[in-house]
Amino acid sequence: MPLYSDEGIVLRTAKLGETDRIITLLTRNHGKVRAVASGARRVKSRFGARLEPFMRDSVLCATGRSLDHVSQAVCTGAYARPITADYGSYLAASAMCETTDKLLDTEHEPAPAHYQLLLGALIALAQRRHQPWQIGESYVLRAMTLAGWRPRLSSCVVCGRADGLTSFSVRLGGALCRSDRAAGAVELTEAQFVQLQALSLGDWDRCGGRRDACVAALVEEWAQYYLERPLWSLRLLDYET
Ligand SMILES: [Zn+2]
Repeated sequence: MPLYSDEGIVLRTAKLGETDRIITLLTRNHGKVRAVASGARRVKSRFGARLEPFMRDSVLCATGRSLDHVSQAVCTGAYARPITADYGSYLAASAMCETTDKLLDTEHEPAPAHYQLLLGALIALAQRRHQPWQIGESYVLRAMTLAGWRPRLSSCVVCGRADGLTSFSVRLGGALCRSDRAAGAVELTEAQFVQLQALSLGDWDRCGGRRDACVAALVEEWAQYYLERPLWSLRLLDYET
């Protein structure tokens, strides 16, 4: 089997048989990869905790017919411990990894921008650089933007005027002025628009210190609407705050 080496972040894991695991990785050069880690569930696995979610590893994989196989993994970023030590960070990281997993449909298709974005967000969470909800929501908006679903926030999606924006429609793709208010659009205050915009740009100084439930719900709806499927970890984030 041909071998390749890469660096990857573990998005999720699933049990396989008695002792193995299937690891879903987002790699720097090969995009999303699913690979079997033989014996990973044994107590004395040679992989230890390196193939747990949120870990960054340098891996050597063998290309298989349906699934690849991990033959070596060396940890290059042990983000799992600091992230799982804080429940809010754990939920944000789970939402980030689930969004990425669902966003990237095709395996072995390079997605370097997604890799950089996820790596930066995990480091920010592990180092407590910002509040977990800020990092999580900003990540979801920016990952969706990378995939082509950028919310339009600075002008009305119908008439293009930049002032007097009063509501936001997920279905129509962004902000609406008072005269173009559409069915299903959510009324937003100026402060809520500022928070949404700041999150979508990763402009931490303008995010505001408090999580706004309405903005959070819009971020969740935005991702679910365009991904056309539910994001379970974002739901959890709602119950928590
Ligand atoms: Zn308008």
